[in-house]
Amino acid sequence: MPAVSPENVSTVDVGIVGGGPAGLMSAILLARRGISAAVVEQRSQDEIRTTHRAGILEAGTVNMLVEAEIGSRVLSEGHEHTGTILSFEGEQVRIPLKDSVGRSVWLYPQNEVFTDLAAAWQREDGEIHWSVRETSVSGLESATPTIGFTDEQGRDRRIRAKLIIGADGSRSMCRRLIPDEVRTDYFTEYPYAWFGILCQAPPTSPELIYANSPDGFALISQRSATVQRMYFQCEPGTDPEDWEDDAIFDRIQRVLGPATELKRGPIISRTVLPFRSYVCEPLTYGRLALAGDAGHTVPPTGAKGLNLAFTDVKALIPRIEEFLAAPESGTAPLEKYSKTALDRVWKAQNFSYWATSLMHNRPDDDAFAYRRRRGEFDAITGSPQGRAYFADAYTGWA
Ligand SMILES: Cc1cc2nc3c(=O)[nH]c(=O)nc-3n(C[C@H](O)[C@H](O)[C@H](O)COP(=O)(O)OP(=O)(O)OC[C@H]3O[C@@H](n4cnc5c(N)ncnc54)[C@H](O)[C@@H]3O)c2cc1C
Repeated sequence: MPAVSPENVSTVDVGIVGGGPAGLMSAILLARRGISAAVVEQRSQDEIRTTHRAGILEAGTVNMLVEAEIGSRVLSEGHEHTGTILSFEGEQVRIPLKDSVGRSVWLYPQNEVFTDLAAAWQREDGEIHWSVRETSVSGLESATPTIGFTDEQGRDRRIRAKLIIGADGSRSMCRRLIPDEVRTDYFTEYPYAWFGILCQAPPTSPELIYANSPDGFALISQRSATVQRMYFQCEPGTDPEDWEDDAIFDRIQRVLGPATELKRGPIISRTVLPFRSYVCEPLTYGRLALAGDAGHTVPPTGAKGLNLAFTDVKALIPRIEEFLAAPESGTAPLEKYSKTALDRVWKAQNFSYWATSLMHNRPDDDAFAYRRRRGEFDAITGSPQGRAYFADAYTGWA
């Protein structure tokens, strides 16, 4: 990296690439332990705040937001869901999450999580550079790994640190800094995608409905009293503009069946979301640790992505503290983080893959495959043990 003038160089304990949930939560929890951090983020705050993504928070994620005392509005403005509904060919079964395993999930959109985290980091007077370009990372095997970037004003800048967190999302640049001979990429793709809409309508159901029918999958979720989130299964190459509004609602209604009447309204956003599962092993290399989607992605069916970003951070922060107390002793604490985080990541990968396979129709499904999945649905929903298995995983395990 070419040298830059001293006023454009910051020196901190931890440099963080990515100002999403993993990056900001890491920065805040580090600051709480007296460890200085600086964040670089390529998007603007407005861009992140208006991107619609996750909605379901596990109980542990909510606890992290509350315990970090960041002034999150999750308890006052989020909605506790003590149950969720699974539907097969119109037949609905409620999984009582709280009664089965003593935990609920919370509906609190990722945009709000981001708003809370960004405000908390600002209150900490934490260093953050929004809308950066040309991020690069160097010196991972040295004592001062460095982030280089061009800031919003076009200045060439550096952040010198003792450690870098790569929290730069599913297309992570940091991940690719782990040499090929060290890194293993585990990857699988699914032969379907989700067509997601936001529409101006009241909630169709007070709890989420995950539905399957011969027409495939649909999900009824919520956002607020006046805006709702819904998805249905589509082919990966689908152009969202090819679908008329009525055709979208008719498809979702067919999957739901007559048990629930869909509340329709103007569609204000539409996207097609490809389905992939990915894990990078290990999550650390030299003085780099990956957190969140940078290290792993899951299909959204199990609602695990944002939650895994938080559990990564929970596992990582104490190990960073341990590492920084005696950096000369080596990177063993960081390697311990990788092992702890990956154990949970693989559990979540399994649940996400399983729930996705249960609730979606594959293009090559025959009548046997469909009836077999009906048997699996009955096994899960038809006994307290089956319902508890689903509830335990969905709410984030004990
Ligand atoms: C439609 C949809 C629905 C979802 N639903 C759920 C759900 O219900 N529950 C759930 O738990 N998860 C869900 N997820 C997944 C969840 O949104 C992600 O897992 C979560 O955002 C991961 O957080 P992160 O901080 O690791 O990554 P991100 O949120 O992707 O943040 C990474 C940040 O790094 C920045 N960045 C990237 N490269 C650079 C660079 N070179 N320099 C600087 N900055 C960079 C990006 O701009 C980004 O802001 C959903 C995802 C989608 C798309």
